[in-house]
Amino acid sequence: MSEISDASPPLAETNPLLKAWQTPHQTPPFSEISPEHFMPAFERAFIDHAAEVAAITHDPAVPDFDNTITALERSGKLLTKVSAVFYDLVSAHSNPAILEIDKELSLRMARHWNPIMMNAVLFGRIAMLHEKRKELDLTGEQVRLLERTYTRFHRAGAGLSDEAKARMAEINERLAHLGTSFSHHLLADEQEWCLELGEDDRAGLSDTFIASAKAAAEERGMAGKAILTLSRSFVEPFLKSSERRDLREKVFKAFTARGDNGNANDNNAVIVEVLALREESARLLGFPTYAAYRLEDTMAKTPEAVRGLLERVWKPARARALADRDQLQAMITAEGGNFALAPWDWRYYAEKLRQAKANFDDGAIKPYLVLDHMIEAAFDCATRLFGITFTERKDVPVWHPDVRVWEVRDRDGRHQALFYGDYFARPSKRSGAWMTSLRDQQKLDGEVTPLILNVCNFSKGADGQPSLLSPDNARTLFHEFGHGLHGMLSNVMFPSLAGTSVFTDFVELPSQLYEHWQERPEVLQRFARHYQTGEPLPEDLLKRFLAARKFNQGFATVEFVSSALIDLEFHTQSASASRDVRAFEQAELKKIGMPEEIAMRHRPTQFGHIFSGDYYAAGYYSYMWSEVMDADAFGAFEEAGDIFDPATAKRLHDDIYSTGGSVDPEAAYVAFRGREPEPDALLRRRGLLDTAEVA
Ligand SMILES: [Zn+2]
Repeated sequence: MSEISDASPPLAETNPLLKAWQTPHQTPPFSEISPEHFMPAFERAFIDHAAEVAAITHDPAVPDFDNTITALERSGKLLTKVSAVFYDLVSAHSNPAILEIDKELSLRMARHWNPIMMNAVLFGRIAMLHEKRKELDLTGEQVRLLERTYTRFHRAGAGLSDEAKARMAEINERLAHLGTSFSHHLLADEQEWCLELGEDDRAGLSDTFIASAKAAAEERGMAGKAILTLSRSFVEPFLKSSERRDLREKVFKAFTARGDNGNANDNNAVIVEVLALREESARLLGFPTYAAYRLEDTMAKTPEAVRGLLERVWKPARARALADRDQLQAMITAEGGNFALAPWDWRYYAEKLRQAKANFDDGAIKPYLVLDHMIEAAFDCATRLFGITFTERKDVPVWHPDVRVWEVRDRDGRHQALFYGDYFARPSKRSGAWMTSLRDQQKLDGEVTPLILNVCNFSKGADGQPSLLSPDNARTLFHEFGHGLHGMLSNVMFPSLAGTSVFTDFVELPSQLYEHWQERPEVLQRFARHYQTGEPLPEDLLKRFLAARKFNQGFATVEFVSSALIDLEFHTQSASASRDVRAFEQAELKKIGMPEEIAMRHRPTQFGHIFSGDYYAAGYYSYMWSEVMDADAFGAFEEAGDIFDPATAKRLHDDIYSTGGSVDPEAAYVAFRGREPEPDALLRRRGLLDTAEVA
């Protein structure tokens, strides 16, 4: 006995996830945390949380706001803390051990949350308070929290019969498993494919592209070679610049076939099962379709409202794309090409047309878009708009040496947040760019300041040179930083209402709105400087750059809106209609008149947004819904004649960036703008309103 206890000190003393963190601002001590710490910490967190919820449920006192709703807000602290660290690592710096835990954990999570969210006694307390919420003398934020809590439990099935709940729990567990399978299949199909680029296969490809292709080969143990993988950041530039039409075809076909190859990674059966289970769960909850269920709790409210917006954008976008197609075909013919434009030709000829018409290519501006300067620009805009300042900290623990941390202070110099920037691609990071938090802001038991992250996949500069961004990268940087501000400026009482805890179709407003500042001459002239000479961006190049932003928007909009429409159809039509996923896709594309030369941005078997989980299911339209608002919202600054107008910036802070989910989003928008958004602003920004505006 004594030997065992000597060798195994109590878990809490050795597991850093279970100790109080003695780090600056109580940040996670990443260097002390290893994969084997997670499962024991999660097990403890599940037990603690379940006990806290049981105490609330069986509290003998008469239910009131404090002993029920506030108590729920206070519960699960350890689970929240451990989850934040774990999911940061899953996405930004994983390894086989972490991914293995992730697989196991999805089911454990479902099994932990099902009995809480479907607890009839607990829901009885919440429903009783919700019923008499007007008489409880609550603040506006408390009422909002009560409504959100009630809605969350109600929509999870807390009010169903025991039999229906049991089925609901089964469905949730199965869906958790299917979501993980969908992403693992996609990842496997991507990992199994590569194309070796011999010397003859490189016509049209830039030196930086070849350098990345060599780095990719090295990562796969093929040092000395150059390969193309199926990641979007490889495929799109390849299709844009490769002169080898046969290779473009090959790559395009492989890219659009991911998850649809009839092999062990095929996602068709997963989709069929997911759609059937979603439909069943919606029916259990009393909705005719999953889309009706899903959209009830959004700004859009109904499938009809979503379809209305998408169709309004679809028509001019399709018309523009068809006109562009004819121009591209004319270009092929003029070159003596004896073939019809195919989907694998579009990007290539569109880029040629852009160079001819707008006299601009991305390569010309890249030397002026130095990552560090663009970070400075994003910070500077926030200082001018909201008065916050940024100071780099070197003493905060991070999960990878490339991660940088800044302390954010408010106008009066008080600590407001820490901001972590993890900018470079590496094999341990999933693709894409995102914002998340390691801790959310709240004031429930004293001020808790947020820990906010931006994660991107930019390339490092080679041989000690600075990292240079493409225009798309620079836009992504501002986009994610806009989400970051939503987290950092959050000023609410309750943690579940903090920052980005808003409707899916509102959450892209703070991020997409922030992109507008990146495109402004006032900002670019100051921060876009040549990485070698320090020269500012020449006036003429700046003009051509800004004009080129509207180029090929018909194509980009068609790619996006077709995906959003198919997502909506999958979730409004009966699940039995899509038993043959491919036939369903083709029939729907035919119905909307999809140009044959353009593919959906995400074909069903690779549409992780809607099938890897349910966050964007029947919700892919959200980006466009938010775009209606962001295009309109920036107009407020333009009308004020100053893109940093203090009065407008103050309203933007008070009504949008600081309120999180504590107010109704529509009311928040109207408070900021003084009226509802005007949808034409979106078409204007994409250059789709005026058909004469071609370049
Ligand atoms: Zn976003």
